[in-house]
Amino acid sequence: MLKMLIMGPAGAGKGTMSELIASNFKVAHISSGDMFREEIKHQTHLGLQAKSYITQGLLVPDEVTIQMVGNRLKKDDCQNGYLLDGFPRSLAQAEAIEDFNINAVINLQIDEHLLVDRIVFRRICQQCGTIYNIKLNPIENAEICPKCCGKLYQRNDDTYEKLMVRLESYREETKPVIDYYRQKGIVYDVDAGQTIDDVYKQIESILKNVAEEETK
Ligand code: AMP
Repeated sequence: MLKMLIMGPAGAGKGTMSELIASNFKVAHISSGDMFREEIKHQTHLGLQAKSYITQGLLVPDEVTIQMVGNRLKKDDCQNGYLLDGFPRSLAQAEAIEDFNINAVINLQIDEHLLVDRIVFRRICQQCGTIYNIKLNPIENAEICPKCCGKLYQRNDDTYEKLMVRLESYREETKPVIDYYRQKGIVYDVDAGQTIDDVYKQIESILKNVAEEETK
């Protein structure tokens, strides 16, 4: 069974790659960021706790995050494997899921200077969730989803200033998590500066090998 993590700084393509991996390898896609945004949308207690951290580009405290993801991992759709996207982002979070025996960590590597345009021009469809970049892959109308005609929006943490804060917390708190898994020998580095197709091809061949090993 594939129990995977996808890691990388904001804008490396975690969301886009996760959608492709989850549909092709038939695993549950668990994005802690998406879960928080849903909670905020529904104005739950958890959402209110997380909101001020997220809008500042800071990490939500471990206690809150670990509980939310821990509960999610108990759901039935995780029985056939899962891909955690954006979690763990700190050593305490990694230690909290130690018993889950993660078998692969996809580490998206990218030059930081490429991230600014990827984040600042990122737009998301309110209706179908498709992610666009109105500068790097322009679409006819930058406000309307070409797939479903839904309205496109920009995340309020997708600004240059918030990106700088997010990159700082990535360097300080999340990079040590990659080293933690590297010591276990399960990190697979991927060059994420290429096209979506080319990045996915690298990931697909890695995961096919991991899946094969798992069935032995
Ligand atoms: P993302 O959609 O993965 O970029 O996450 C958006 C924001 O949600 C982050 O900048 C954090 O504020 C918060 N967040 C998501 N995942 C975590 C996590 N594992 N630990 C703490 N905060 C998180």
